[in-house]
Amino acid sequence: MVEGISDLVSRPVEEIKGELLHRGKAKELYRTPSDDLLLMEFTDEATAFDGDKKGTIGRKGFYNSHISAAIFRYLGKCGLNTHFVEQMENRYHLVRALEMFELEVVIRNVAAGSLVRRLGLEEGIELSRPILEFSYKDDDLGDPWLNRYHIRTLNLCTEEEVVRIEEDAWRINAMLRDYFAERKLVLVDFKLEFGRSSDGSLVLGDEITPDTCRLWDMESAEKLDKDRFRYDMGGIEDAYQEVYRRVAWEG
Ligand code: ADP
Ligand code: UDP
Repeated sequence: MVEGISDLVSRPVEEIKGELLHRGKAKELYRTPSDDLLLMEFTDEATAFDGDKKGTIGRKGFYNSHISAAIFRYLGKCGLNTHFVEQMENRYHLVRALEMFELEVVIRNVAAGSLVRRLGLEEGIELSRPILEFSYKDDDLGDPWLNRYHIRTLNLCTEEEVVRIEEDAWRINAMLRDYFAERKLVLVDFKLEFGRSSDGSLVLGDEITPDTCRLWDMESAEKLDKDRFRYDMGGIEDAYQEVYRRVAWEG
């Protein structure tokens, strides 16, 4: 039986949680009674450096699920095509099933992380123009940088889709910079994942959280993201809770 969205969201998660399709580094994906919809569970597991460093962050799944839901709702209201349907029971998102591109799209507004290491820039310098990078989503290869020619040769998506992905990613950057600035956070850099829906349209998938964004407090420049886990800085759970408080507590 094919079930509609309203039927599914009105039922307890345990009833609609089907076969485990993917156990990832921070989330699990489950089938639902509808072929077009999946359940995405946010876990407390954390990894860094392509999975070499592993751990757990208390209540991360709860915080990230709420943070990502608030951000996806905002992007949806701004007219962006996203996979988000509804948040369920704190840690779950009901999402549209996508054929994901094996691509990560990173946008950088301020120099940090691998950009600093690779190009020798000073951390914290605002870039004269933001940068968009593609990487191949492949932990074994260390998520290497890709340009449009690599994407074409590896056939990761069509050329039209690359153009649309770039357009959407720049729009998202403009929307999110404002969104976080209103919450006294600087959006240093972030990663997006896109996919194709069953009708062939381009859709933003995955999550937008302190796992996938660098967020610094606007006044103190305190890091409120996964860098605290990556570099053993302490105060990790407090940092996620603080982003949750600023993003998801607005009612
Ligand atoms: P990883 O697989 O990189 O360890 P996660 O733990 O975040 O990462 O697992 C989530 C997985 O779900 C990722 O592989 C991501 O590409 C995939 N995904 C995200 N949104 C969707 C969607 N709407 N449909 C299908 N797959 C998705
Ligand atoms: N990022 C991510 N997943 C990845 C790689 C990067 O979410 O597999 C995010 C990361 O959190 C940061 C941005 O993308 O916000 C840029 O990351 P960077 O290339 O600097 O990599 P890092 O030094 O964090 O490994």
